Amino acid sequence: MKHQPANGLHPRNLHGERYDLTALVGACPALGPFVHPSPRGESTVDFTDPRAVRLLNAALLAFHYRIQGWNIPEGFLCPPVPGRADHLHHLADLLGEGGQPPRGSGVRVLDIGTGASAIYPLLGHRIYGWTFVGTETNVAALACAKAILAANPDLKHALALRLQSDPTRIFQGVVDSGERFDLCLCNPPFHSSARAVRETAQTKWRKLGRSEEHKRLNFGGIGAELWCPGGELAFVGRIIAESAEQPHSCRWFSSLVSKSEHLPRLQAALREAKAERVQVLEMRQGQKRSRILAWSYSKG
Ligand code: SAH
Repeated sequence: MKHQPANGLHPRNLHGERYDLTALVGACPALGPFVHPSPRGESTVDFTDPRAVRLLNAALLAFHYRIQGWNIPEGFLCPPVPGRADHLHHLADLLGEGGQPPRGSGVRVLDIGTGASAIYPLLGHRIYGWTFVGTETNVAALACAKAILAANPDLKHALALRLQSDPTRIFQGVVDSGERFDLCLCNPPFHSSARAVRETAQTKWRKLGRSEEHKRLNFGGIGAELWCPGGELAFVGRIIAESAEQPHSCRWFSSLVSKSEHLPRLQAALREAKAERVQVLEMRQGQKRSRILAWSYSKG
């Protein structure tokens, strides 16, 4: 039986243990000033300080995945590395169809909404050697993702970024007709309005008992990347609708679905679209549960 980390992470996830902050500071010395003793006397960083969280990410990416100079401007979504790696490991199992996960540059993956961080292409290439195309509507986010790639010239042949100039489109305009991918993945904008983003942030900060100043720091500038009209239900619905128009452009289509109550409507849309195979991959990271909805128009 495979070893299952106690926190529920995928057995191949490297991040099942406590962070080794000494090693991480060695890989990214700028993190050093943000490491301090916790009330229990262990080394820790302040997870409510966005600068500390960004540097922790940079250190994890440098230490475990040989990514240099990773940084994103304040206000952009800072992706937790263990969770994003978990997402990729579950998708690797899906592609493996019950056997070993496929590795190497012959596996082509499309990342819809790659963000400023380009986190899935970076991790997916370093862990499995896959080739990625990342799409993005936000010009500033795309520029930042390009700067990260420029700091890692060895990734140039494996990762490409494309601007989606129509936010209502998913594949159209960024995927050439006849182009084929093994997989498309997505971490969709979850919220349905800028107000919903603010309210979620405020609830989180109330629970943490943090001040207005911290709230400003962590959420100032955030907005467009976290919401779209109709929220994730509409966004994933659009992926499904466009996938049905070009069903063989990807062997597997997939998206994260943050709310389990959205699944029935999305599964109904997939029946309507005549998907041959539909799977829900459950993920757990500590208390947090999420899921990937995956579908294919090929019988396998
Ligand atoms: N993949 C990153 C960012 C996810 S946030 C991560 O996991 O951290 C969702 C991203 O989708 C945002 O960057 C947003 O700008 C982008 N986006 C929104 N609509 C899009 C569309 N139609 N096509 C491509 N990207 C889109």
